[in-house]
Amino acid sequence: MVEAAKEAQEFEPSREGRDEMSAGLFLPKGAAGLVRGLRKIGQKGAKRTVIGRTRQKMLRIFEQCYTLLVSRGHSIALFVSDLLIAILQQTATHAASAVLAIIAFYLSLVSTSLPPSKGEQVQIDRAVQLLADRGFSDEVFLLKGTTTFRATDHWLNSFTAKENAYASTNFPFQIVTLYADFYNRAEDDTERAMVLLHEARHLMGEDEHEAYAYVWRHRKQLGWTMRTHGSTESYVTIEQLTREMAPEIFNCPTKSWEDCTE
Ligand SMILES: [Zn+2]
Repeated sequence: MVEAAKEAQEFEPSREGRDEMSAGLFLPKGAAGLVRGLRKIGQKGAKRTVIGRTRQKMLRIFEQCYTLLVSRGHSIALFVSDLLIAILQQTATHAASAVLAIIAFYLSLVSTSLPPSKGEQVQIDRAVQLLADRGFSDEVFLLKGTTTFRATDHWLNSFTAKENAYASTNFPFQIVTLYADFYNRAEDDTERAMVLLHEARHLMGEDEHEAYAYVWRHRKQLGWTMRTHGSTESYVTIEQLTREMAPEIFNCPTKSWEDCTE
């Protein structure tokens, strides 16, 4: 019984095994079958104990690994968060610097030129209204809402040689400078509206080819045609320039003057 108990203790039976052994103490003493039974019970309990310990060790390792993973994941999230904040701060700083530089550049252009006189502004307003009446709403929106009109060249325009120019536009600063030809060479409000229509296309970012082509294709909508203005200096000049800038419009031999828009 004692030896059996010692052998059983060597296996360090689990609580369940010890309960089974305790239950065996009520059996008659000296019974060989009891010893064998106790040994079996002891071995069985010991095996369960080993499995239990292994499970506990595995659980502990898993908990450690899980904790490690969670800790690393948290650190990575913090690093990414800090990185994103730093990038956003840098981007905001650069964007603010760019905006300030654009504003400073714009103010330098406006401050080195003169605005139109009241009489000139009246002619500008009439031409813009004529465009509105003829359905050029996008161009009117830009001319009324985003454009700063000037009467003299600012420092940037002074570097560009101009000859017989009606106007010039600085995109994207939305500054339109109107020269003497706009008021004197243009015959009426319709021709001044034609000039502003051209400049409004520049305000949209279009180049000379696109601006000349657009005005020529829409001259009937504007009311500026061969029949109404064909003999004016502006009409003849603009037609010549349009033939140079947008020759594809004048490539229709079956049409009058080979003009595809006729
Ligand atoms: Zn132009």
